[in-house]
Amino acid sequence: MKKIMAVNAGSSSLKFQLLEMPDEVIITEGIVERIGLKDAYYTIKFNGDKEKVVLPIKDHAEAVKLVLDDLIKREIVKDLQEISGVGHRIVQGGWYFQDSAIINDDTIAKIEELCDLAPLHNPAHLIGIRAFLKVLPGVPNVAVFDTSFHQTMKPDTYMYATPYEWYEKYKIRKYGAHGTSHKYVAYVAAKLLNKPIEETKIITCHLGNGASITAVKGGICVDTSMGLTPLEGIPMGTRSGNIDPTILEYMAKKEGFTISELLVILNRKSGYLGVSGVSNDSRDLEKCLDTNERCRLALDIQYKRIADYIGSYYIQMGGLDAIVFTAGIGENSSRCREQVINRLAVLGIKLDPEANKARGEITEITTKDSLIKAFLIPTKEELMIARDVVRLTEQK
Ligand code: AMP
Repeated sequence: MKKIMAVNAGSSSLKFQLLEMPDEVIITEGIVERIGLKDAYYTIKFNGDKEKVVLPIKDHAEAVKLVLDDLIKREIVKDLQEISGVGHRIVQGGWYFQDSAIINDDTIAKIEELCDLAPLHNPAHLIGIRAFLKVLPGVPNVAVFDTSFHQTMKPDTYMYATPYEWYEKYKIRKYGAHGTSHKYVAYVAAKLLNKPIEETKIITCHLGNGASITAVKGGICVDTSMGLTPLEGIPMGTRSGNIDPTILEYMAKKEGFTISELLVILNRKSGYLGVSGVSNDSRDLEKCLDTNERCRLALDIQYKRIADYIGSYYIQMGGLDAIVFTAGIGENSSRCREQVINRLAVLGIKLDPEANKARGEITEITTKDSLIKAFLIPTKEELMIARDVVRLTEQK
């Protein structure tokens, strides 16, 4: 038995899950938020209880030490030697990583080089990696990239029709995101279909605050909606998704915005939030459907674009066995799933409204005579991270 820590470090947060492998049991999980502030929060779930404390936490190294000391205090581990590996979620692995990688100086240098492509994420991941290397010396660390699963896309899919030199000089192309989640749910869907994954055509919809759609043919990614960065694709909680790039110049002229200001608007003040003016959370918009036309519109724009992507990937793959809904919205919002599936009726897909009431557990949500199946499958990114830590550290 091995205890593996799966980590997702953000700029001011550190999310963790400790798993027992190979049994794939979650021993404990938690999050440290508002790192760097006097009133940071530390939340831990253990044995069915949830505890939250407010305390000052200076930096990520202090957050890591706090979590590890707490694991000992609660006797979740007797000593830190019991943790045999740490896996880190890394948003951008660029062209370097087709698979997860053991963290060494070379891996760190490459993640650092890729910061330009994920300025909000990769620097935070590096802080998390360095904090664990410092507090748990000698324990192997593994980087698990959101982009690796998408490295199988063909050039006609990952290239933009921009000057070729942009690609040669600066590696401007589509990289995608949420790869760990798309891969996990596609493999679970293949099992539910009772088919070898090599023979399946699946579209996975990871619909959370960030959202992306992926076409998975024979178990490999053939297309995905996110691009060079996670701004491309469908509209999300605060991100616009695809827009005509000319809007940038037009709005710069009209309102005097700089490019950076416009990108902040497209990343943080658009999507559900921008259109509704109310919230970036689908629960809030669903509550106001009948009283606020813009809340309804914000959701409709997204549902339409999701259906558009599914239609396009259906054609690209030459058919479809199943659509999967996952992440916060995909797992919890019956209305979102219903609205998307109803827009795809022409493909012979039929929703089972009763089954679609499910939340957060694996469920087939289409009728027996539906030509294409749809599933709700909760994602398990941390489990995929832990599996990769075991695989790579055993190969060493
Ligand atoms: P994630 O990024 O996967 O954690 O998803 C977060 C998003 O899921 C939230 O911002 C909400 O929009 C959405 N969400 C979570 N629970 C529900 C729910 N019960 N109904 C509708 N949307 C939900």
